[in-house]
Amino acid sequence: MNQERHDVIVIGLGAMGSATAYHLATKGARVLGFDRYHPPHQFGSSHGLTRIIREAYFEDPSYVPLVQRAYELWAELEQLSGRKILRQTGGLMIGPPDGVLVSGARRSAEEHKLLHQVLSSSEMRARFPILSPESNTVAVWEPRAGILFPELAVQTHLELAAKRGATLKFNEPVLRWEPDGEGVRVFTATGIYSARHLVLSAGAWLGALLGASADLPLAAERQVLLWFEPGSQAEQFQPENCPIYIWEYAPHRFFYGFPNLGDGIKVAVHHEGQLSDPETIRRDVSEHEVETMRLLLRRFLPDANGILKSTMVCMYTNTPDEHFIVDYHPAHPQVLVVSPCSGHGFKFSSVIGELAATLLGGQQPRFDLSLFRIDRFARFSPDPVSSK
Ligand SMILES: Cc1cc2nc3c(=O)[nH]c(=O)nc-3n(C[C@H](O)[C@H](O)[C@H](O)COP(=O)(O)OP(=O)(O)OC[C@H]3O[C@@H](n4cnc5c(N)ncnc54)[C@H](O)[C@@H]3O)c2cc1C
Repeated sequence: MNQERHDVIVIGLGAMGSATAYHLATKGARVLGFDRYHPPHQFGSSHGLTRIIREAYFEDPSYVPLVQRAYELWAELEQLSGRKILRQTGGLMIGPPDGVLVSGARRSAEEHKLLHQVLSSSEMRARFPILSPESNTVAVWEPRAGILFPELAVQTHLELAAKRGATLKFNEPVLRWEPDGEGVRVFTATGIYSARHLVLSAGAWLGALLGASADLPLAAERQVLLWFEPGSQAEQFQPENCPIYIWEYAPHRFFYGFPNLGDGIKVAVHHEGQLSDPETIRRDVSEHEVETMRLLLRRFLPDANGILKSTMVCMYTNTPDEHFIVDYHPAHPQVLVVSPCSGHGFKFSSVIGELAATLLGGQQPRFDLSLFRIDRFARFSPDPVSSK
């Protein structure tokens, strides 16, 4: 048994765990973090070079104050580290005017008085000649949207956490944890560790770590990322000319993309992937999956349909309503759950890290977290002991 008792143990040091470790260490907590790999790595949910950040949040207007704080924290992290972690490009939410994407983005923009514009299909084509929207399509343009660099963000949070005193153990999977009075004990192959609080930020592995202690309806979903060379109009895909975009191409079906930052034009379908086990997920990409993407490109972004440069596979961890979980374990108030984020959490990781540190410091968060409550699923086992 490791003699030193920590204030907080963090299991999983990806997007949420790295930010949590950083904010806890900044507040002076004695933090011990574990990851089964060495983040940033390519086995979880936080790789693939780019992530979208946007403010006119179509999913629900209550995310807007959170993302606004996230922007401030990303800027702070850039200043502290001297690294460029966010690139602003502006963003387009494209679809039918009454679709969930456009109507949701407009609602958030109007409720929170965000800078935005609604573009008709011809205005879109004139301003961004690579886009080929159908005539009944409009877009919400938001100037503050842009790109986060996820691997760099995770690495920076981890480096600064360590500088501020956090002990971070990589390539050391946690096998199980258990309550220990009002604290917790955590077991790995090489040690037993104790702390007053536990943060579970294991992404797609969260269900396995919760074991029998909480029966949450979580699903890991395989997602394919593809990078193409521009087939034509290459200069129009440069970040000065090309914003990030999400496109509702059929009711409740989306694809999204980024400008060419030197690695090709990255595009992907949002959801529509196979449910997978993170241990056995298929990591190769099939011809059929490439062709499915090409069909969308031919229709909506024909100039992007050039040579395939590379592909990657990543995982979403979904809840049934696709909102996050940021809440205490219902049977163990010393345990805080800060994932999963249903495929749209990265942009918030900076603020979720800060929130976790606020909650564990016993303070009241200044955001409404009711959307993220764990008891909305109400399927908890009375068995208080977790196992892997
Ligand atoms: C393809 C794709 C595109 C996305 N696009 C966007 C986007 O544009 N914008 C956006 O905001 N969000 C986006 N997201 C969502 C966002 O990336 C995720 O919500 C976020 O990265 C999840 O972070 P996490 O910390 O929960 O998981 P992860 O970063 O995967 O971290 C979990 C960590 O836990 C570790 N772990 C697991 N089990 C154990 C154990 N037993 N012991 C120790 N360590 C363990 C893992 O090794 C891993 O490092 C996207 C996600 C994907 C997959």
